[in-house]
Amino acid sequence: MESKVKLIGIIQCDFAKERCSGFGCVNSFTKRIDAFTKYPLGAEIMVVPFNCGGCPGRRISRTVSNLVKRAKKKAEIEKDEIVIHLASCMVTDNGHYPPCPHLDYIATILKRKGMKVKKGSYKSKTATARREAGLYEPFDWDGE
Ligand code: SF4
Repeated sequence: MESKVKLIGIIQCDFAKERCSGFGCVNSFTKRIDAFTKYPLGAEIMVVPFNCGGCPGRRISRTVSNLVKRAKKKAEIEKDEIVIHLASCMVTDNGHYPPCPHLDYIATILKRKGMKVKKGSYKSKTATARREAGLYEPFDWDGE
């Protein structure tokens, strides 16, 4: 499936983005590390990071519709060539906060839009150490 992907949308938590530039997620994708290891290096894949819009993530519905429309119109990228990654700041227990409490709601929005979704982006070394020490909840980096 990853070989078909032409665009990755990375949704980031509005609260986390108050202090985060988003560099970690894009850096992980560029190097194909952390949650992006399955995408072939060198493949032409566009990355579009954007915020959830604040709790409970309702704006995602409009933003994802806009993304799908613009991708088709401006880059001839079809919806089934897009994967949405829910950034680590949303889905993992991490240095910002515990996971987003609205993940089920957001998952429903994305499912109704027919989007492919994966969880995770940048893997923080500090959060990983705290996860291994049992301070943070476990996270399956290979999960859906
Ligand atoms: S909906 Fe979740 S990801 Fe978005 S601001 Fe609220 S806690 Fe963060």
